[in-house]
Amino acid sequence: MEGNFQISETTNLLRKIKEFTRSIVEDLAEGKSPEIAINRFRNYCNDPEADCFCSSDEPKGREILTLRKRSQTYRIDMLLRVLLIVQQLLQENRHGSKRDIYYMHPSAFKAQSVVDRAIADICILFQCSRYNLNVVSTWKYSITVLLSGGMSLLVMGWLKFREAGRKFDCLSSLSTAFPVPVLVEEVEDIVSLAEYILVVEKETVFQRLANDMFCKTNRCIVVTGRGYPDVSTRRFLRLLMEKLQLPVHCLVDCDPYGFEILATYRFGSMQMAYDIESLRAPEMKWLGAFPSDSEIYGVPQQCLLPLTEEGKIIKHLYLSLIHSFSETRQLSLTDKKRTEAMLLRCYLKREMPQWRLELETMLKRGVKFEIEALSVHSLSFLSEVYIPSKIRSEGSFH
Ligand SMILES: [Zn+2]
Repeated sequence: MEGNFQISETTNLLRKIKEFTRSIVEDLAEGKSPEIAINRFRNYCNDPEADCFCSSDEPKGREILTLRKRSQTYRIDMLLRVLLIVQQLLQENRHGSKRDIYYMHPSAFKAQSVVDRAIADICILFQCSRYNLNVVSTWKYSITVLLSGGMSLLVMGWLKFREAGRKFDCLSSLSTAFPVPVLVEEVEDIVSLAEYILVVEKETVFQRLANDMFCKTNRCIVVTGRGYPDVSTRRFLRLLMEKLQLPVHCLVDCDPYGFEILATYRFGSMQMAYDIESLRAPEMKWLGAFPSDSEIYGVPQQCLLPLTEEGKIIKHLYLSLIHSFSETRQLSLTDKKRTEAMLLRCYLKREMPQWRLELETMLKRGVKFEIEALSVHSLSFLSEVYIPSKIRSEGSFH
């Protein structure tokens, strides 16, 4: 049934693509410039006082691309090139990464960002998600595919599912990390006996929980997107939430980057604002680590790091590698400036004032710490004390 639905969706999309290209050709044959209307989306603005409407999924303006404007000719050209590739992928029922597409015409595309924008334009034009175009993400796809056989995220715990006919039975070995396939749309038959889902920022923390056999004593599903979550990770989490209707808690480092990761899970990223509805986890709760945890759980002074000028360079580069311009642009920002900028986001004031308060506290104290710093007193502190007590006391903010 689901398969038939996907086939008709693809057929529908192919029909729309053909109609679109036909109308362009007709315009050109008549000597007219085609006019391509691209809606603009954003998931937040930087004016918490403004009476904005960022919370709605409606477009926040539109741009008309035309050959009459020289600056737009290249954008239209690239859009049509990528559209042709997408059409081939769909017709042949194959998948390709954004990077694969770039390498099909590197001299024309000039940069990966050109392909990324063309794909975003196509999704907006045809009102679909990137996965509908049979296009998968870039960096994680290319590198992680090699490292872990095509998987971008890890999962363990009280869960069973199938993907393209393959069985994933995490229940058979509760402390084993199962890599989840990139093609999340083919995940089906999800069965779970879990009481909640725990998303952890870092793979090291995930492995710590696996070593501690966390899921044997806690009836949950643990997921990690290995840092900044890519589209597959967010789609998989969204799928679990929709099918299982379980509470979702998120555990990140107590620093601006950890908070950025948390915000991306919950509110989506600006680059994918046009597809926020299929990617965000609107009910996600922040389990920790909060600035106040350092006192409550006695994190020693030497584990508290100042919010410095350099920030976390490695993590920063990682973010900018897997994600596009906005992160790259922020490469020069310090921890403090980045935190100040995040405090302005309208969604925090509107929906998560408690999160905003914690962020303000972080800024006021001027210190950050990693989740692992909580383990200073005992290696299993996270799995035996911290996480269970937070879950029990509902210590996470909604
Ligand atoms: Zn706004």
